[in-house]
Amino acid sequence: MLDPEGRILAEAVFTQQEEHARFGGVVPEIAARAHLARLPGLVRRVLEEAGLGVADLGGVAATAGPGLIGGLVVGASYGKGLAMGAGLPFLGVNHLEAHALTARLPGLFPEPPAYPYLLLLLSGGHCQCVAVEGLGRYRRLGTTLDDAVGEAFDKAAKLMGLPWPGGPHLERLAATGDARAVPLPRPLLGRVGCDFSFSGLKTAVAQAVGKGFAHADIAASFQASVAAVLADRARHAHAMLPDATALVVAGGVAANQAVRAALAAATPLHLLAPPLRLCTDNAVMVAWAGLERLRAGQRDPMDLAPRPRWPLDELAVPH
Ligand code: ATP
Ligand code: FE
Repeated sequence: MLDPEGRILAEAVFTQQEEHARFGGVVPEIAARAHLARLPGLVRRVLEEAGLGVADLGGVAATAGPGLIGGLVVGASYGKGLAMGAGLPFLGVNHLEAHALTARLPGLFPEPPAYPYLLLLLSGGHCQCVAVEGLGRYRRLGTTLDDAVGEAFDKAAKLMGLPWPGGPHLERLAATGDARAVPLPRPLLGRVGCDFSFSGLKTAVAQAVGKGFAHADIAASFQASVAAVLADRARHAHAMLPDATALVVAGGVAANQAVRAALAAATPLHLLAPPLRLCTDNAVMVAWAGLERLRAGQRDPMDLAPRPRWPLDELAVPH
């Protein structure tokens, strides 16, 4: 929950990780049911924490896509119900746009980045580089040709027997290994443009495991390869948007210290990494994107349909 300026009044996240971990990944049906079970309590908690009632709100924003349809339908319907019941405007937010705008949250950085800036979205479901040119104006400069980078971390971790989600476990293991011990490919390194590819790296990890390399060495070498590739892609992205004011990272992989260090050194741009709780999926960023659109005059219809697929460059510019 945000105040009219965008300052955080209260926030809560219910992570479903434990419910999904024993299946080794997100199970759509479990996700939808958990949304339904948890959402009313979460909203009540946040209102209590802020000392406000629904009638005090100026609008309700909910994620309307892209993603698993079950959770989207539950969240968007709940948001619409809340808004309709209290006669408030409703906004269906694109969750990628919310990631893109998080860095502009007031108070997060001494200066919010001015448009245009570069966004590297590095999560379990997405790996893309975006030119953020204004509210609703996003140009995708590159994307992954196969796996998302978080997915690559998770698959590599699984090959080494680490629990899901594997990213944080792999980073911890890598700290005890030698990053030069295992020769691994660096896909698309040096290639013009800003696309990504990780499936070859995953195959190479599988082979290294088969050959009996120490898992800590494989983890360290894998992480070094990913960091080097991301840094190289960031350099090429900067060449595609030379007047960028900053390089912003979002998504769970932005938690990785080796990745952060490589990105900070990759370009002369200031690296802006929001705190981790705002890098991974969260309601604060959705409220902020909603607030920006509300201020721009947008109101979404109550029959707005959630979209499982909703690329950033198909977003409308509010006017
Ligand atoms: P999306 O929101 O794009 O649909 P998602 O919900 O999977 O995808 P996030 O919650 O932003 O995305 O990120 C989760 C991913 O981040 C997982 O793949 C996880 O392994 C990875 N991750 C988290 N911490 C680290 C870390 N320290 N190092 C590497 N990867 C990490
Ligand atoms: Fe996300």
